[in-house]
Amino acid sequence: MSSRILIVEDEPSICENVVYALEADGFAVATATTGRDALEQMKSQTFDLIILDVGLPDMTGFEVCKAVRKTRTLPILFLTARSSEVDRVVGLEIGGDDYVVKPFSPRELVARVRAILRRVSSVPLPPNGHDTSIPLVIDDLRCQAVYFGTALNLSRYEFRMLKAFAAHPGRVFSREQLMDHASEEPDASMERTVDTHIKTLRARMRGVREGIDPIVTHRGMGYSLLETWPSA
Ligand code: CA
Repeated sequence: MSSRILIVEDEPSICENVVYALEADGFAVATATTGRDALEQMKSQTFDLIILDVGLPDMTGFEVCKAVRKTRTLPILFLTARSSEVDRVVGLEIGGDDYVVKPFSPRELVARVRAILRRVSSVPLPPNGHDTSIPLVIDDLRCQAVYFGTALNLSRYEFRMLKAFAAHPGRVFSREQLMDHASEEPDASMERTVDTHIKTLRARMRGVREGIDPIVTHRGMGYSLLETWPSA
């Protein structure tokens, strides 16, 4: 499963270019042309990130952001047309995660999206009515993963892989994607070491809870973190 991005942009040519670049990079993309449409879509769908134009026909991107922030913490990347808007975006009160000034290259935007998603560390809130809480806490400041209350002794790569898993329980990550999360400069030879890191992660986590294998192998596809945990 790929990350889902919502693009809120009323200029069709910009929207098309962004959609094309993101889809070419493997993202699932939905679009909205007004703030109201965006907020409506967010009620019924889950997104991993929003790309939000500041100048929308019915409301400003800042107003949309404010409304989103009442219930969601997902990252928001602003598209701005003027430097006066940038001042507000980077201001603390708006709560945006990053911005791109028009005109921009779609490739640059995709790179920003990837960077933001990579640094998002918090485990998403469980969907309403389902208890999918996982016994794993990612402490980004200390680069530490705490599993059933016990800090795991992990290498930097292992920590980053576990962090990627924890951000999307149940999502299958390919070896390539895991390497991408684990290293700033992934190269093809590192893919072979993913299995070794996974082995270590499993061993460390079994050391805390013997009866649970928290990492699921998907033959020919990759690995995922358990989505539903046996009650302890
Ligand atoms: Ca606009």
